[in-house]
Amino acid sequence: MWRGRLAPQAIIWGGIFVALVMVSLCATVLYQGRLDAMDRARETSRNLALIAERDIERNFELYALSLQAVVDGMRDPDVLALPPRQRRQMLFDRAATAKYLGSMLVLDASGNIVIDSGSDIPRKGNFADRKYFIIQRDNPNVGLYISDPYASRLRGGSPSIALTRRLSHPDGSFAGVVLIAVNLEYFHNLFAGLSLGSHGAVSLIGQDGIMVMRQPYDVRTIGRDISKASTFQHFRSAPEGSFSDTASIDGVRRLYLFRNFPDLPLIIMVAEAEQDIYAAWRQRAMTIGSLMVAFGLGFVALSFLLGAQLRRRIRAESELELLARTDGLTGLNNRRTLGEILDQEWRRARRSRSMFSLLFVDIDRFKAYNDTYGHQAGDDALAAVARCIGDNIRRPVDSAARYGGEEFVVVLPDTPPAGAAQIAEQIREAISELAIEHAGSEYGRVTASIGTASWTPEQDGDVTAVIKAADEALYNAKATGRNKVSPFSPA
Ligand code: GH3
Ligand code: MG
Ligand code: MG
Repeated sequence: MWRGRLAPQAIIWGGIFVALVMVSLCATVLYQGRLDAMDRARETSRNLALIAERDIERNFELYALSLQAVVDGMRDPDVLALPPRQRRQMLFDRAATAKYLGSMLVLDASGNIVIDSGSDIPRKGNFADRKYFIIQRDNPNVGLYISDPYASRLRGGSPSIALTRRLSHPDGSFAGVVLIAVNLEYFHNLFAGLSLGSHGAVSLIGQDGIMVMRQPYDVRTIGRDISKASTFQHFRSAPEGSFSDTASIDGVRRLYLFRNFPDLPLIIMVAEAEQDIYAAWRQRAMTIGSLMVAFGLGFVALSFLLGAQLRRRIRAESELELLARTDGLTGLNNRRTLGEILDQEWRRARRSRSMFSLLFVDIDRFKAYNDTYGHQAGDDALAAVARCIGDNIRRPVDSAARYGGEEFVVVLPDTPPAGAAQIAEQIREAISELAIEHAGSEYGRVTASIGTASWTPEQDGDVTAVIKAADEALYNAKATGRNKVSPFSPA
């Protein structure tokens, strides 16, 4: 039954449960959104890395071809026999005028410029000390070599890298170096065009760990050796990958995505700060999350309100019901309830073939009491007597009711006549012991007479017959002196 606490509790717990489900669903969706943001960022970084990589590879392929053309030309005696101007045009095709190309040079075996794409009379310069020169000189089989960044001597120190090839005599001995200098501005501009968020970074690193270019640009980072850094160990561990790490320089946690170029000794790294990755998500999560929490709290509050309301209603209802069932003055069951109890106990007794006893209690000379002490005192005496009756029936199945006026009925299921007489005697004695002064009584105090009657399964008849019998027994008690218990005797 939806009685007492159960229904309001169920509403409150139900409300809390629904709110929790809503909030956790929302949290799940938001968390998924966070994961999605990370996935999207990884995808974007990868795309950026690929775009930059393709651009660099295509350009380097062109530079390598130009370099090869010079190497081939230098082997052709006809080309070498041409006057300087024509020879220059032959050796250095239009690539020499490409935007970020510094210069294309042919160096002899001792590092001096012998042919210069920039002018017919070669500029003065010796590059025997450069690492690329030494490597090409000492290793016949290096092939295309991409140098670390250096400050150009011919172009006022502008940072560059060189693509070089070795020139060999027919006997294989060192004849010099052909080089193409690429202005690092090329990478600078390429990276500047990539949008990476305000804390993002993109780097081009040689596979030996030398920084070629970094965006955001800082001239001091160019040429720095990061081969000992933990991030760099990551870069070399796989052709491509991504990982999250906190940069020691600025404490910013970033998602790093790297790719090793398939055909060049270069690594491209794109790093996006997690704060940028999650910026939009965080905004959305804050709004939705706080709305959801507010909504959930509101829902719980509403459930509490509803539960409290229901509890109040249930309490009011049961109070009303109690009022409807009891007598206002004495607190005992009223006549209507007595009818129900008798009905129920009667049927039960017949069904279980058990005994059933009734007491009929009537206060002696109560009219006189009222007349002497007033109606209010009469009421007080009535309530005291009722309490006395109630106190003397102990079993839960027993019940007492106000039959009307100063008359009470006590119902005693499963009680034989002797038991009924005993309880009746207890009640009579207790009332007498209240010692309420009653000058108009022959006993000088308030007393009551009690008639008892019992029904046994062997008997016929119905409950009204039992009441009538108890009433008759009461009449007998009155007639034979009052303040006494009389059992019903059929005679
Ligand atoms: P006895 O039963 O001993 O023969 O005499 P009695 O005076 O009690 O007789 P009866 O039953 O005729 O009188 C009942 C009286 O009880 C009538 C009335 O004055 C009083 N009475 C009935 N109901 C109430 C009540 O609710 N309050 C008060 N104060 N008195 C009541
Ligand atoms: Mg009476
Ligand atoms: Mg009376």
